[in-house]
Parts: sequence; C-alpha cells; structure tokens
Amino acid sequence: MKINKIELFDLHLPYSGGTYELSGGRIYTGFDSVVVCLTTDTGLEGWGESTPFGPNYIAAHARGARAGVEEIAPYLIGRDPREVDRINDAMDMALTGHNHAKSAIDLACWDLFGKSIDLPVYTLLGGTTGNRLPVISSIYAGSPEDMRARVAEHRAMGYLGHSVKIGALDRDGGPALDAERIAACLADRKPGEYFIVDANGGLLPEAALRMLRMLPGGLDFVLEAPCATWRETISLRRRCQVPIIVDELAQDDDDIAMILAEDAADGIGLKISKAGGLTRARRHRDICRAAGLTISVQDTVGSTLSAASIFHMGATVPEQHLRCVLDPRDMVTVPTGTFDAPIKDGGVIPPSNPGLGVTIDREVLGKAANVW
Ligand SMILES: [Mg+2]
Repeated sequence: MKINKIELFDLHLPYSGGTYELSGGRIYTGFDSVVVCLTTDTGLEGWGESTPFGPNYIAAHARGARAGVEEIAPYLIGRDPREVDRINDAMDMALTGHNHAKSAIDLACWDLFGKSIDLPVYTLLGGTTGNRLPVISSIYAGSPEDMRARVAEHRAMGYLGHSVKIGALDRDGGPALDAERIAACLADRKPGEYFIVDANGGLLPEAALRMLRMLPGGLDFVLEAPCATWRETISLRRRCQVPIIVDELAQDDDDIAMILAEDAADGIGLKISKAGGLTRARRHRDICRAAGLTISVQDTVGSTLSAASIFHMGATVPEQHLRCVLDPRDMVTVPTGTFDAPIKDGGVIPPSNPGLGVTIDREVLGKAANVW
C-alpha cells in the first residue's frame, strides 16, 4: 500500500464557551486547525488533524503546521503509511522539529493502517483495556464561585476528573485569588473525584509557593504545569509536597528522558499533537508506564479526529496509570465528521470501527488548501 495523494485543509474551530482564559492573561475565542487526508493506491483514505491551542500556548501555530505539512508532504508520496516509524523517520529527515505538523500526518497513517486490516487503532497500539475512559472537564479561570459552579455542572453530568485553570497575575489577584479558586473548586469534592490544578506554566516558583501556603490543609489535587521552564519546575518540586504533573514541557522523547533523569514529575499530560502524533505518544506512554508515572491523554485542542486519537490511545493505558482523557469535541462548535463515542456517566469508550473510526464530512472542510 502506497500513499499517492495528500490533501491539506485549513479549518477554524470556534470555542464553544465564548472566551477561554489561561494564565498570564491569554484569551482564546477559537482555534485554527489543519486537517490532512492521505489517499493510497488501494483507494483507502486516512485522516489526521492538528490543532494548536492558539499561537502562544506552546511553540506551535496553525500556519506553522500547514507550512510543516507542505515541507514534508512531497517526501511521503510512494511510501507505505503502515510503516509508522519509518514514516516518522522520513518526516524527521524532511523537517526538524515541528511536532504539530507531523502529528496530522502520523494520525492519518494510523487511520490507514487500521482500515487496511479492518482493526481499530487501539488494537494496533496494544489493545484496549475495555474500561470507560474518565473524561476530564476543563474549568477555565474565572471567579472562584463561578468556577465552583462549573465544576458542579460537570459533576452533575458524571465527570470525575476536573482540570482547574489558575495563574492570576499579581495585578489581577495573584496567588491569593488562585488559592481561593482551588479551595472553591474542591469545596464540594466527592469521593473518587480527581483534581488537576493547571497553571499552564504561568507561575514562578515564588508565586506557586505563596499560593500553596495560603491553601487550607488536606486538599487532594495535583499541580500541573506550575512553571514555564525545567529549572523553575524542578526547583519548585524540591520545595513542595504536592505531586507535580508536567504538560507543556513534555513534548519530545528528550523531555520524557529529562523527567526520569531529574525525577521532575509524577505524571504527564500526554497531548497527541504536542508529542508529534500517535507513534511518538505510544513511546511516551510506554516509558511513563515503565517509570511509574501517571498519564492524562489529551490534545492541545481539536475536533473529531483529535478526539478519536485521544480515545484510542487512552484505551491502551492501564487503569492505574490513566488519570483521564480530554474530549476536545466539548471545546469547539465544529465537528469534522461522525464518530460513535458519546460521553456517558462522565466516560467514553472508543468505537471498534477500523482505523480511527471517524467518518469525515468533506462539506465541513471545503476545498483543499493544497494537494500533492
Ligand atoms: Mg495542562
């Protein structure tokens, strides 16, 4: 089976909740996305997506993803998409870095691999645990009482995991406001609930330590991405008792090796496009499992294809290691196809259709922005 055509589509995904607020005053009302279709000489189509969380979340942006695909695509014509490691080698030879561009192509290869042998991607990744995957809510930063209410809304829908966003600048309330937000979100905590407090790299160690000191005792949460750099994160970790999860910092193989070498974290946010696709995410999953780290399988954001890739990967993480999965469909208003994976009781099970299991709606995508 050989790739004989590559199509690239640009897409805008409006944020479903109006305005999303992150640490440092970053706000988002929508996300630009890149969708890729690989067609093979057998007539099969494979689809992939990459949607950076705006241009100032990690070093990734949609126009960069598009330019990256354009750089790589000519080198993939004629290759067998099922040889996913070799495809990734070829992508690395064509372009250094730019995981977010490679991710869309890598997903499309896994989709084709599954379709070519009539198996779901989770089987190719090692097999599903069969568990309903706990979906995590995303509670953007706001007033403490508003955030508490949004946690309660998700609790009412059966969600057990909550990602609470913090990272107020001093002029906006600083560590005192963040401590109030955490206390409010955990005020009604029920047994079995899991709270990630996510600063998205927005705190210096000094601010994080001040915030932690203002919290009431006994609150059960992990602190995700408190700081923007490895030095800051490791410094904080050595001086606080709260489990640390790294997210934005954990992108490449080398970052995962760094976590182990420095004992820098207790878990990672494994975002598919941040890692560069399922092939690399699979490697990160296995290393984390071997090292006893927890894993939250997510993506930067995205639509239907992104959700599918998350759920297929999430289904292969052993229960003790899997904290949660993110359903990015919840965050955008544009589905790119049909995908039979409804959230029930706060959890989701990926469908057993071949490949990623998504039937793409080409109408939504419109005309290809580029074709090879
Ligand atoms: Mg995070």
